[in-house]
Amino acid sequence: MPSELLIARALTWRYIVALTLVAMLTTAAWLSLHLVISEQKSTAAVVNISGRQRMLSQRTALFSSLLLHTPRQQRQEVRSRLREAAALMQRSHLGLIRGDRDLGLPGEMSRTVHAMYFDGPDALDSQVRAYLAAVQALLQTRDEDLTLDNPQLRYIMTRAPGPLVAALDKMVRQYQAEGERAIRRLESAETVVWLVTLLLLVMEAAFIFQPFARHLRNVVGKLQATTEELREHREMLEEQVRQRTRDLQKKTEELAESEERFRSISTSAKDAILIIDQREAIVYWNPAASAMFGYAEDETLGRNMHDLLAAPRYRDEIRRGFAQFCASGSGPMIGRTVEVTALRKNGEEFPIELSISIVQLHGCMHALGMVRDITARKRMETELREMATTDSLTGLPNRRHFLARMEESLAQLQRQVMQSAIVLMLDLDHFKRINDGYGHAAGDAVLRHVTRLMRDSLRKNDMAGRLGGEEFALILPGADAAGARAFAERLRQRVADTPVVHEGRPIVATISIGIAALEPGDASAGAAISRADAALYRAKGNGRNRVEQEAGMFNVA
Ligand code: GH3
Ligand code: MG
Ligand code: MG
Repeated sequence: MPSELLIARALTWRYIVALTLVAMLTTAAWLSLHLVISEQKSTAAVVNISGRQRMLSQRTALFSSLLLHTPRQQRQEVRSRLREAAALMQRSHLGLIRGDRDLGLPGEMSRTVHAMYFDGPDALDSQVRAYLAAVQALLQTRDEDLTLDNPQLRYIMTRAPGPLVAALDKMVRQYQAEGERAIRRLESAETVVWLVTLLLLVMEAAFIFQPFARHLRNVVGKLQATTEELREHREMLEEQVRQRTRDLQKKTEELAESEERFRSISTSAKDAILIIDQREAIVYWNPAASAMFGYAEDETLGRNMHDLLAAPRYRDEIRRGFAQFCASGSGPMIGRTVEVTALRKNGEEFPIELSISIVQLHGCMHALGMVRDITARKRMETELREMATTDSLTGLPNRRHFLARMEESLAQLQRQVMQSAIVLMLDLDHFKRINDGYGHAAGDAVLRHVTRLMRDSLRKNDMAGRLGGEEFALILPGADAAGARAFAERLRQRVADTPVVHEGRPIVATISIGIAALEPGDASAGAAISRADAALYRAKGNGRNRVEQEAGMFNVA
């Protein structure tokens, strides 16, 4: 059982004992007081009635004497007075020896009083009885028989003033003495009760309240210690709460600050920034994303990013990659920059550079995508690539690119993937004159015009290139010498027959063509070019506006 409960139980018992003692002492005090009062009352009554007996004995004696000396007509009155006094004396006497509640007389008497009333020939009881008997006898006596020597009257007159009164006086004194003794006894009893009360109170204080107070001190001490502990604990808790609150505030501020920084950066960013949760739903969308994809922010939040922004033909693949990322927290696209095709609101597909990183939002993994529209860069790259491979004036492959393609054809020929290939070299005749005569711009116009005619006459796999100045080359994969020659003749004729109109003036240009076959045994494309160039040189030498082919081919043709 816990000690507090034991203490409480002991305290309860002590409290009950203390209460019982207090109740007992109060009752004893009340009883002794009650006894003193009733003793005083009965002593007073006994002394009083006893004194009255003395007075009544004298009164009866007086009325007895008056009866003789009163005229006869008034004797009736005296008789009745005498009878009354005698009756009262009779009643008082009986009350004194037997007790009378109405008169406040007790039923018991002391041994001395008893002896005084009943023992011996002069006992007061027999005296009073004899005296009252004499009075009764006198009252029975008729008026005419009343004389001075009436024996009853004589007895009354001698008795009342003398022995009876003396006996009654003695009895009164005896009663007074006994009353005083009783009072003294009660006083000592009361003193004893008071002393016992005092003793019990001291004992109560010593044996009950001292342990009670000790227990109380213990309990109060424990309570104080507990209160102190509680106070310290509370202070500690309050300090912890304050610290936590400070930490939380700091974190909240930091969070708000970093969020603000993120927002300001992402709002002003040129790149689109978007965040999606693991259900592919867009949870963040910056203004640059709106500008890039064409959707306002409220059109995208909560919607599936891949449905919205991935090009349909790549959607499934991207989804698989994203599912892998969600399952493992990593993937081939995470932490890298990749180029993919995205979809604008208007349905246009465009290239983007995408870098994905993982961010934790509200304790959940999210994917943050930074998207850069690389349409312009891609276009630039294409242009640069074209510039590197294409001649800007005519749009034809430049010398380097053309030679590279010729090398490919040579390789195919050597691997016998291709049976034959013919190379044609073209040069405009007296081009200097055109430049000089019409101006450089007119020369350019003629170059573009010849290019157009040349392109128009090419078949699917044929390729033309500008080797430099006003020199062109053609490669005709799969062609034979005759076919190539016929083609060259048609082209030469067409150029010669088709003037170009520049600034309202028709300009007629002619071309010379040299033909050579690309041979599997050629060390490089340059060898075939040289042979075709040699044929071209011959065409120039033979008067221009002509087609010549390399020596071997000529024979075959
Ligand atoms: P030939 O019949 O012997 O070929 O005589 P030609 O005058 O054509 O002589 P050549 O081939 O040596 O001359 C080439 C000229 O072509 C020299 C140069 O001024 C001109 N030319 C080269 N590139 C360009 C160009 O891009 N535009 C223009 N307008 N002229 C060019
Ligand atoms: Mg030339
Ligand atoms: Mg020329």
